[in-house]
Amino acid sequence: MAELDRRHPEGPEPDGPLPHNREDFDVAAYVRRVRGGPCFVCAVVAGDPGYDFEQVVFEDDHHIAFLDRYPTLPGKVLVAPKAHVEHVVRDLDEEAYVRLMRTVRRVALAVEAVVPSERTYLLSLGSGQGNAHLHWHIAPLPPGTSYERQQFHALMTENGLIPWSRRQAADLAERLRAALGGPAGPRVPEEREEVLTGGGVNRVVRVGGTVRRPARRWTPAVHALLDHLAAAGFGGAPRAHGCDGEGREVLDFLPGEVPDYPLPAYAMADEALAGAGALLRDYHDATVGFAPAEGAEWCFPPRAPAEVVCHGDVAPYNCVFREGRPVAFIDFDTAHPGPRVWDVAYAAYRFVPLHDPGRDRSAPEVEEQARRLRVFADGYGLGVRDREVLTRTARARLEHLVVHMRAEAAAGHEAFAAHVAEGHDLLYLTDSAHIARHEALFLAALSSEGRGGRVGMSAG
Ligand SMILES: [Zn+2]
Repeated sequence: MAELDRRHPEGPEPDGPLPHNREDFDVAAYVRRVRGGPCFVCAVVAGDPGYDFEQVVFEDDHHIAFLDRYPTLPGKVLVAPKAHVEHVVRDLDEEAYVRLMRTVRRVALAVEAVVPSERTYLLSLGSGQGNAHLHWHIAPLPPGTSYERQQFHALMTENGLIPWSRRQAADLAERLRAALGGPAGPRVPEEREEVLTGGGVNRVVRVGGTVRRPARRWTPAVHALLDHLAAAGFGGAPRAHGCDGEGREVLDFLPGEVPDYPLPAYAMADEALAGAGALLRDYHDATVGFAPAEGAEWCFPPRAPAEVVCHGDVAPYNCVFREGRPVAFIDFDTAHPGPRVWDVAYAAYRFVPLHDPGRDRSAPEVEEQARRLRVFADGYGLGVRDREVLTRTARARLEHLVVHMRAEAAAGHEAFAAHVAEGHDLLYLTDSAHIARHEALFLAALSSEGRGGRVGMSAG
């Protein structure tokens, strides 16, 4: 391996412009190595320690992706089937070929995300006489490369290699693995994508221990919030792990059950209701002291007084239950700074639920709704002044939702347009009128003396 000994242990960063000071490459020694040694791809698959520059960045049942030992361009990655097949067209059936190309694209997207480039070259080279194992090259062309140095010129080892060290290889591999959404470890097992929700506003999939959701303009602010919650020791929210190579945010998958309407019995139990209130209180308390970045973007504008960071959509369908107990909230897309009661009122509407029994036969009768509203407020430990404005806030919250839904639908958002077409906006207005009709009953239940859960401590 004489050709490696000449290399700078600490060369320039691999993401700079195409270096003109490429190092000469001993082509004869390279030919001896690839023709005399074992199959280099099979050696990497086997984890041969002599192949330490070939840092593995991705692996599944069928494929492996690793850094090129002899990079002619910074960020050059090879993708190969694990099985020793040689001919790019003849040795793969259509399914295996398409699967390989899907992997090439996935890895290339990660390279795009990590290494600056003005073009990505994809080629399958190799030779039946030497490096025979089928492999694809992913070669990102540095921005600003002169025309004469592009295309084959940029790829030929005869034109020299970029200076390259084990440390640089390890650093680059780590960034690529992160972009591919894998854990920090060197090997990323294949995991199938399971669609968790597909028909709503977002397509959400599970990949092993993670959830992938479309990243939005507010994702950085939400991830900062989730980082804060983790640091504060609040376990009732997923941890965030940045974004994957497909522009999706990566969050921990939280095991448990997430109910939907009509709510199952366990989600209708008083323990669940009080537990959801208590969990919301713990969440709100954990957000106190969180300082959003300057100019942070949220889905909704901050709302005064910004006592806490509202979740924005606390509901059974965004609540993970284990053994009948609410343990975590998910889907923080609608989070935004605001008053506690703004979040509590909507959560109460969803968990009690405060649906008009005239339109939702599964909803409790109004006296039972009033009792359940009290259980929820006590579970939260809602303050006296917040109790006084809870029903009014719930109605304002529903009307706000209708305005938002109609605006999004008018702006061409398909999922919201479908909700409006199905008359969801009218259901919210029906429920708002129901809450208004029975406001006195609800307020009496909230304010009467009784065995409380938590003592009212919240602002208000
Ligand atoms: Zn092989």
